[in-house]
Amino acid sequence: MADLNKFRYTIESCNHCGQCKWLLPGRMYGWDFASVCPIHDYYNFDAYSGQGMLNLAGEIMNGTLPHGEKLAEMLHTCTACGACDVNCKNVRDMEVLDTIYELRKDCAEAGFLPESRKKTAENVVKNHNIYGLPHEQRFSFLPEDFKDDPEADTVLFAGCSVYKHPETFLAAVKILRAGGVKFRVLKEDEWCCGASLWRMGDWEDAKELIVRNTEMFREMGIRTVITACAECFGSFRSGYPRFVETAFETKHISQVALELLRDGKLKLSKDELPVTACYHDPCMLGRLSETYIPWEGEIKSYGLHVPEKQWRRGEHGVYEPPRELLNAIPGLKLVEMPRSREESLCCGQNASDMDPDFAKHTAEERRREASASGADTIVSCCPFCREALDAQDEYKLQYLDLTELIADRLAEEVES
Ligand code: SF4
Ligand code: SF4
Repeated sequence: MADLNKFRYTIESCNHCGQCKWLLPGRMYGWDFASVCPIHDYYNFDAYSGQGMLNLAGEIMNGTLPHGEKLAEMLHTCTACGACDVNCKNVRDMEVLDTIYELRKDCAEAGFLPESRKKTAENVVKNHNIYGLPHEQRFSFLPEDFKDDPEADTVLFAGCSVYKHPETFLAAVKILRAGGVKFRVLKEDEWCCGASLWRMGDWEDAKELIVRNTEMFREMGIRTVITACAECFGSFRSGYPRFVETAFETKHISQVALELLRDGKLKLSKDELPVTACYHDPCMLGRLSETYIPWEGEIKSYGLHVPEKQWRRGEHGVYEPPRELLNAIPGLKLVEMPRSREESLCCGQNASDMDPDFAKHTAEERRREASASGADTIVSCCPFCREALDAQDEYKLQYLDLTELIADRLAEEVES
């Protein structure tokens, strides 16, 4: 059951300083590209921000505001990107994003979930994928002679985006095979990772799915889960420990590829790729991928947490492996956007079902930032960021998926 009282300290400690909406002054390049909260940037009302969500949570907790459809709509237009959380924690130790999650859970339990979210939940429960497509088609693109290693204790987890972008999965296969990694593919046993369920507040269905997936990994003896999808990666690391004890390690394909490159098991082509690229950090591979660490205790005066709490500040996301891989490509010049790593701006795609104009505005803002940074190419590794950032517009940027790029740049031969 949702219990906003668990977040009373955060709710009551917000002093309306507004830091959750902006980069720290020392990290700003100016007012342009300084805003970090996409909903606040678009709607321009405090209610649409981390600060506003805490106020709403307080009203609900104290019974002075009833749940309703409009509130649910506002809550779900927030992309749950966590930029407010990281930026609040730059000045205060509070749990802004976890309070937003709890508020969503409270809202869902009160019977208020926007229709599009209800539909997604139904799709996941009935078809095991977010799109509601037939489950048996999940791996229908695999060639008949596709061979994995059914005894391997490493699994390559495709994620629901495999329906739309099987080429990313096949690129990951190519990288693992080139590096001599033994892995298995779950095929009909692979169901959705559950990210959309727990992030929308449908914890009942999320728990069932997460317990099912974790139990399956345990029965199969899976010790390592590799994925090329940022959303699945963040879900396994920061979502699963909220529900179950996990006995498997999660690795992103960029981490695996970099290890293989460093060990000399992968080699990149010496052919030059003459592009100026910036790397867009997906929220669920960056700040939101830090392992969730449960904490229970007492909050004393001045916010002293007893026992000591290990805070998740977004610093330990996967930031360097994608950049190191890009820097290893001859001819590619890597430039940085002002909002990067744990301060990355969300692409907005997560709320495209709630307000397509808001999502479009946010994606355009990110492309404007990429262009202003001197890039002609945006590289990322999230299927949802791809949908937002792979667009034709005045900025004339090409979008490249990191996994596919690395697979394309593999040298034919690896020197022994
Ligand atoms: S940064 Fe934290 S304390 Fe400041 S307004 Fe935002 S949520 Fe409140
Ligand atoms: S999670 Fe993202 S969109 Fe939602 S309030 Fe925080 S910064 Fe804004």
